[in-house]
Amino acid sequence: MTVLSSVAPFVTVLVGLLGLAIGSFLNVVVYRVPAGMSVVAPASSCPGCGHEIRRRDNVPVVSWLLLRARCRDCSAPISARYPLVEAATGLLFVVVAMFSMLAPWSPLAGLDGTRGLVRGALLLAAFLYLMAISVSLTLIDLDTHTLPNRIVLPAYIVLPLLLLAASAVSGDWAAALRGLIGLVVLGSVYLALALAVPGGMGLGDVKLAGVLGLVLAYLGWGPLAVGSFGAFLLGGTFAIVLLVVRRAGRRSGIPFGPWMLAGAWLGIAVGAPVWDLYLGVLGLA
Ligand SMILES: [Zn+2]
Repeated sequence: MTVLSSVAPFVTVLVGLLGLAIGSFLNVVVYRVPAGMSVVAPASSCPGCGHEIRRRDNVPVVSWLLLRARCRDCSAPISARYPLVEAATGLLFVVVAMFSMLAPWSPLAGLDGTRGLVRGALLLAAFLYLMAISVSLTLIDLDTHTLPNRIVLPAYIVLPLLLLAASAVSGDWAAALRGLIGLVVLGSVYLALALAVPGGMGLGDVKLAGVLGLVLAYLGWGPLAVGSFGAFLLGGTFAIVLLVVRRAGRRSGIPFGPWMLAGAWLGIAVGAPVWDLYLGVLGLA
């Protein structure tokens, strides 16, 4: 039994609570960032009566249930989307934490000793940060068909810092170099697509592709291959289904950001074993 498996239940509960709180913040981000508003000030208020939300009425999920989905002051209905985003973020954080600590092929599995735990904590922080921006970017792309720079560009600082620190702890500089290659390659592929098919991919997709290429390739070539192909597989399948049931014309814009993110998480979760299996079938491994 490693140290990791003994701290896993504690970490999972802590990460779940963190996810609920972050989900509450993401509700603010998703509403205010596309509108060009500050995410820290002013404090949240009821759109119906303008009363500032009291601290006790701002507890994720619980407050919405206790208030029975209505403002305490003016009884204006509060959308179920808020507690759903909070609950979903909490749940996704728990899944990320459990999966990265328990999946045998995870970079966190089998880590031990102080260095191993520090490296594991840095990688988990990188995954959770990526999940937080995945949730907010998915909702904003569905709402507004944009991937705002205010969310995508800071990832070019936060993720390299966390991943480079993890490499420094373990001495695994090959992963860092792979990550840089993934950033350039996936960013270039999306840039070429954006230039080749005007009105298809946007520059927001190109910038997001660099971030995803970095994380996926840092984890390995398997996650990069499965993660980038997965986006087109998932998005393409969905587009075909929509065309078949005639819910969308060929020209109706379907945002691609959510599929890029879903594909990337597929690559992070099962990219390594799926890639090994694929190479095995081809007789290459
Ligand atoms: Zn109100």
